[in-house]
Amino acid sequence: MNENHYDVIIIGSGPAGYTAAIYCGRANLKTIVFEGMQRGGQLMITTEVENFPGFPEGIDGPQLMEQFRKQAEKFGAKLVTKDVEKAQLLNGRPFKIELGGQEYTSNSVIIATGATARFLNIPSEEKYKGKGVSACATCDGFFFRDKEVAIVGGGDSAMEEALFLTKFASKVNVFHRRDFFRASKIMVERAQNNPKIEFHLFKLIEEIYGDESTGVVSGVKLKDVRDNSIVDFPLQGVFVAIGHDPNTKLFEGQLDLDEKKYIKTIEGKTRTKIEGVFAAGDVQDDYYRQAITAAGSGAMAAIEAERFLESIN
Ligand code: NAP
Repeated sequence: MNENHYDVIIIGSGPAGYTAAIYCGRANLKTIVFEGMQRGGQLMITTEVENFPGFPEGIDGPQLMEQFRKQAEKFGAKLVTKDVEKAQLLNGRPFKIELGGQEYTSNSVIIATGATARFLNIPSEEKYKGKGVSACATCDGFFFRDKEVAIVGGGDSAMEEALFLTKFASKVNVFHRRDFFRASKIMVERAQNNPKIEFHLFKLIEEIYGDESTGVVSGVKLKDVRDNSIVDFPLQGVFVAIGHDPNTKLFEGQLDLDEKKYIKTIEGKTRTKIEGVFAAGDVQDDYYRQAITAAGSGAMAAIEAERFLESIN
């Protein structure tokens, strides 16, 4: 058999992808993981993970992912740190995956490509990306030592990032568009109790502006959504933490996607509409979006793939 033919091709390398690889490896399936150029998924840009069972003292996101990776490798999965360019699933088995001028084939595919941070999509945001606008406090917080910054959002990410930024920034403003938080109560309380954090409710950023001479952010026009009034709010950094979009571009037109473009799977399973193709983790989960649930669905996908492969042999 062609050396580029595998029992299972796994696309993506967050908790779902690596867990699927661990299970597939242990099931003696010839497995390859296309990890993507930025391997490890969203936990690579997370600080401390406090709620992953087995780590009562918490663990750094990148450290946790390194452990997942090692375990996947230990059981024989081949790991390739590259982006998949094309996935040919519609014509059935063998499925074809292309990258770097090479073709890989398999009898089953597990999609675990995760999700990517969303931006506000206002023109001035694009202009100042990397010059004061960021979607990753963990990556860029360090550059805002003794500066005043804002976090946009009312979810766990916004709370977590606001708390993280207090290590560097002189003040952290949370701009949220209503007075109800999606974030867990404990995270909101922690942020509210931090003297460096101030909440501004019913607020949206209308425009981001900068200093003409330095080209970096110097403030925002902040809108109150109750009466549409706008005020100038001087600050040096804007961190956007308003959720994520699933990474499903490769599969558009091949798999069924829901209205938010998440891959649709059979209820309670990871099976997609194409026999032999499974989806696990954030790419098919708009609801839980946790490392532990992603890992769980990675295990489910591997078990389903194993049973599927048995059924066709
Ligand atoms: P999220 O829970 O979907 O929250 C997104 C927030 O952004 C919401 O407050 C939303 O406001 C706001 N928002 C969305 N679009 C906006 C826009 N265009 N302008 C202004 N605000 C906007 O996303 P997340 O915080 O990234 O969390 C995702 C998942 O990861 C959740 O399940 C969360 O529990 C989990 N997570 C957990 C931890 C942890 O446990 N330590 C840490 C991070 C994330 P509305 O509420 O008004 O819609």
